[in-house]
Amino acid sequence: MKKITPAELAQQYEHIAAVCRINDAKLTRPGCFIRTFGCQQNEADSERYAGLAESMGYEIVDAPEKASLILINTCAVREHAEMRAMSITGQFKHLKAANPDLIIGMCGCMVSQEHRLNQIKGGFPYIDFLLGAGMMHRLPELVHSRMNKDKRSFLLDEPEGCLAEGLPVRRESDIKAWVSIMYGCNNFCTYCVVPHVRGRERSRARADILAEVKELIADGCREITLLGQNVNSYGKDLGSEYDFADLVSEICELDGDFILRFMTSHPKDASQKLIDAMASHEKCARQFHLPLQSGSARVLTAMNRRYTPESYLSTVEALRAAMPDIAISSDIIVGFPGETDEEFAETLAMLERVRFDMVYSFIYSPRALTPAASMDGQISAEVKSARMNALLNCQNAISLERNLAAVGSVQRVLLEGASKSDESMLTGRADSNKLVHIPRAGADALVGRFVDVRITRAETFALFGELAD
Ligand code: SAH
Ligand code: SF4
Repeated sequence: MKKITPAELAQQYEHIAAVCRINDAKLTRPGCFIRTFGCQQNEADSERYAGLAESMGYEIVDAPEKASLILINTCAVREHAEMRAMSITGQFKHLKAANPDLIIGMCGCMVSQEHRLNQIKGGFPYIDFLLGAGMMHRLPELVHSRMNKDKRSFLLDEPEGCLAEGLPVRRESDIKAWVSIMYGCNNFCTYCVVPHVRGRERSRARADILAEVKELIADGCREITLLGQNVNSYGKDLGSEYDFADLVSEICELDGDFILRFMTSHPKDASQKLIDAMASHEKCARQFHLPLQSGSARVLTAMNRRYTPESYLSTVEALRAAMPDIAISSDIIVGFPGETDEEFAETLAMLERVRFDMVYSFIYSPRALTPAASMDGQISAEVKSARMNALLNCQNAISLERNLAAVGSVQRVLLEGASKSDESMLTGRADSNKLVHIPRAGADALVGRFVDVRITRAETFALFGELAD
């Protein structure tokens, strides 16, 4: 792993100052539009891109038409996300034709794939630069160079990966924040492109994470979510004894009114030590995201997940023994190559057995560079989609049942703001991470605070209630 040195960062700050001088000389402050695809890690990265853009004198705007700098932060986990990013990018072509000074950059996971690089280099001449996710600290250099009409730049990730501290950040919310604790992945699940595009695992130093968390708490942030592809292996690459459970404990012991969440935990590494640390700290959310992927032992082996349905169930039992009220969510892939009807039925049986609160389900999407893409037994689109429907039917009933069980209880909820679908309601998250809606009338002043809500009604994806006395 290559840690970006203060001298390297200082170089970027010189580019920031230079771009700022150019932007400050303009009559109006130029805009930067950022479109983000994919996971929470990408959202967190976009907050850094926005921070860098602001420090270069751009104002973050909500429409590409208002922008002098457009960044498309892409996702490569499934083909659909890549197609959407390519199609959005295509729509920006006419903006460039109308304004040749417009700078358009693509960043994130998709661009670190050789075949995309070639496609964009050759077929998308209006894209000014490509920037791999691990290279984000070099955004100022790339913007500056295009302002000077230098050649287009293509800065892809290096496999061992980089780690840059101290980049500016513009957070979307004052109430909740992402804190990346590590980048990259060493697991090489056979379906997954992430290790190929995000490089090897690299953990941030404990002191850097704690400093960021303390600052957030001091600023009044109430929900902190630690991010990593496999948070359970935090620290292993640092060669220290201090592990993820220690980090969770240390953060929960900080003063302040906040709740701590984290994702994602790989089932093979979820330790009793972590479960005990969660159970002994009330500030740790009673929520655990534990991606199962498949209920079949054979498919799990073919996926290189390195756990069995039995060991997975033991982890679930240990979580529930330590925290009976814990909400457990999962990721499932349907239609992995070679998955038989019987093996898919084993996945459904696991859903029935575990009774997850929530499941994010995905149709298997073959990804370049991954072994599963060339495995025998690729499943037809029809079968995949029929399995997806069966899975949704099964899980939606379970999610509803789990949510109905909450009716009548009082839940602590962090109120986040007006509901997106109904202006007369406020929305928040319970400790379990379930979405909770309450009537807005008279409650606006409580946004950003923890309130007690009596649950009166439940749907598959949300709870409804009113402020408890
Ligand atoms: N590091 C996390 C997951 C990152 S990707 C973990 O291991 O849990 C998020 C989810 O996308 C995965 O859990 C998986 O369910 C899904 N996913 C990844 N690659 C996929 C593919 N090729 N096709 C379909 N779903 C995929
Ligand atoms: Fe992908 Fe597996 Fe790594 Fe998660 S643990 S990012 S699914 S390779």
